[in-house]
Amino acid sequence: MKKSCLIPFLLLLSNVLSAQKGLSDLEKAYALLQKMTLDEKIGQMTQVTLGVVSKPEDGALDPGALTRAIDRYKVGSILNVTNHALTIDQWHTIITQIQDEAKKTRLQIPIIYGLDAIHGQTYTLNATLFPQNIGMAATRDTELAIAVTKVTAMELRASGVRWNFAPVLDCGRQPLWSRFPETYGEDVYLGKTLGAAVIKAYEEDGLRNPTAVASCMKHFLGYSASRTGKDRTPIYMPEIEMREYYLPQFRAAIRAGASTVMINSGEINGTPVHASKYMLTDVLRKELGFQGVIVTDWEDVIRLHTRHKVAPTPLDAVAMAVNAGVDMSMVPMDFSFFDLLKEAVRKGMVPLSRIDDAVKRILTLKYRLGLFDHPYPEEAATPNFGRPEYQAIALQAAREAMTLLQNQDGILPLARNSRVLVAGPAAQSISALNGCWSYTWQGKEENWYPADSKTLLQALRDKMGAANVSTTSVPGFNSPGNYDTAALNQAATTSDAIILCLGENAYAESPGNTADLALPAEQVALAKAAAATGKPVILVLTEGRPRLITEIAPLMKGILLAYWSGKKTAEAVSDVLTGDYNPNGRLPFSYPRSMGEMVLYDRKPTEDVREIFNSDMTMDGYRPLFPFGWGLSYTDFEYSGLHLSGEQLKGAGSLTVSVSVTNKGSRDGKHTVELYSRQHYASITPNMRRLRAFKKIFLKAGESKTVNFSLDRNDLAFVNAAMKTVTEPGAFDLMIGTQKATIQYSAQ
Ligand code: BGC
Repeated sequence: MKKSCLIPFLLLLSNVLSAQKGLSDLEKAYALLQKMTLDEKIGQMTQVTLGVVSKPEDGALDPGALTRAIDRYKVGSILNVTNHALTIDQWHTIITQIQDEAKKTRLQIPIIYGLDAIHGQTYTLNATLFPQNIGMAATRDTELAIAVTKVTAMELRASGVRWNFAPVLDCGRQPLWSRFPETYGEDVYLGKTLGAAVIKAYEEDGLRNPTAVASCMKHFLGYSASRTGKDRTPIYMPEIEMREYYLPQFRAAIRAGASTVMINSGEINGTPVHASKYMLTDVLRKELGFQGVIVTDWEDVIRLHTRHKVAPTPLDAVAMAVNAGVDMSMVPMDFSFFDLLKEAVRKGMVPLSRIDDAVKRILTLKYRLGLFDHPYPEEAATPNFGRPEYQAIALQAAREAMTLLQNQDGILPLARNSRVLVAGPAAQSISALNGCWSYTWQGKEENWYPADSKTLLQALRDKMGAANVSTTSVPGFNSPGNYDTAALNQAATTSDAIILCLGENAYAESPGNTADLALPAEQVALAKAAAATGKPVILVLTEGRPRLITEIAPLMKGILLAYWSGKKTAEAVSDVLTGDYNPNGRLPFSYPRSMGEMVLYDRKPTEDVREIFNSDMTMDGYRPLFPFGWGLSYTDFEYSGLHLSGEQLKGAGSLTVSVSVTNKGSRDGKHTVELYSRQHYASITPNMRRLRAFKKIFLKAGESKTVNFSLDRNDLAFVNAAMKTVTEPGAFDLMIGTQKATIQYSAQ
């Protein structure tokens, strides 16, 4: 259908749907649009940061600057904080003042405020922080991800904010990337399953409801795949790869009801995505059918001129982005976009129809969010902030994220009454447990964290008794005292085991760029010194991306990967180390062995082959330190009796795969059952494995359960050379743990 026919058609459709309820949100938006001047329209497309309307001295709103933004430039949206999280009352004051200002304008169009609540409501003091997405992916627990999202939505809305710039749907296949912790890891299915569930959880109550917020799919498309791993740098990628690994998450999120999308700041094959009509209009709008608001990322319109060098002037940059399909520009430090877009329209560089299209989408979102009825912080939402039960959800999420990578000689759980020495830079750091977007953008400023946040040392002392827990650690991740190997040596003499807390301190975005995944040399030296004491060493890793530990891993008796798991990280670590919680996290990425061994689990057959001469050929090309899906438990789960409802899958039919799982050990525990497929032959090289389904179950010691999966041809599909998602006839292995069966798929 041509675009010119689409608007009347949509109007007709919404007319029919809303016949009994009065005007639909789209109709209201359309009606309002008719009354708007060009300035008012362009203002709606302009988003500025809070700093533009605040006083630099104290961060309070500057009434003069606010009037200038809203009255003179008619901005439709504001985002961000000036420096750090604010109290809920401060947010209420800010939002109220902003909406009061909007009420003074001719059409009284409310402002939509947006924030990055990335792993909980980042920017309200005392909001509950949960594991970063990478840790949520380790939980393999969709219900838990939904629970976490509901809390985030409520704490955001309680703060008076109705638009969340989350979730990140970028696929984490490049662990060097500084935003790896914000991803769901390397697998497409895991990413699209959790991503779609999270989007739905944000929005399903209906955006007018004080428990919902508008979500934002980030960052369309391919942002995570930069060639060097440096944030905001070029992606060179064939479209087939983009469609296979990076696009399905967005397709699923759109189906789940995402209201908005943010664009990738990078460039694909030389075309900045903000300037790509193909990506924004042809793919996102027409092919994927996205109807919501397209917002740029930070300053990305003008960067088409200043950085990417595809727009000879700032005016060209604005015209390029809006013509490509951008609805709203996160300008965000000035009003240049407003002036330039006006000029571009006057000069005929941007058609008015494109402006109307963008504004209609923005206004529709504002109607849907109930902002026209009541733009202020809502009384009904406020009590949803800081409910005591959120702490329990945070603890459960952190516990389920914990991924036990190594447990030699059953060193864990620690024997009762063990005396432990706690050492390392992360032992007394809160920021190293939370990471990016934690009360500040970078997450490093510990004074903004809730007063009851525990360090690993505190949590272990609380759990094991202060007398049993000594330390050589000092506050401050980089404090030289944390790397004092002589002190460690000395203190170890009176301990039964060493708990060594290494990893990464918080970072976000470009400041987190790194040249090397290797663990810093002083951390490696500390690990070697700890091992040299002769005491068993348990390595606790708090990190957002996998730092290489290949050299020290054999020296460690136990290795627990804690990620950046939010408020309750320390409690969850101590629960697992002492055996109060049986770990069940599973790696959402392949833990690399070295910078030269970064093969991913869904590799192609030729990546499995290592060949020098034919006679030297091995099949161990996938040699991560720990594979995707790895994660130990304190009990043993055994699979048996893989059963298929049939060996033939035909056309649109489906088949059931079942397997029996038994807890053979003496402890109760949770366990994720994962179903993988492998096509024997296909028109383009098939993957060695693809995750197709997973289910998390709880089994008491000795208990067995049958787990069923239903599969149809869509679950076996891939993108072919013609860029089509297809399932080709042939044989497929289905694999669950040690169990395997083969099926035949035929089109009819
Ligand atoms: C990030 C986005 C974020 C935006 C607003 C940008 O630098 O790339 O993910 O939503 O800032 O804070």
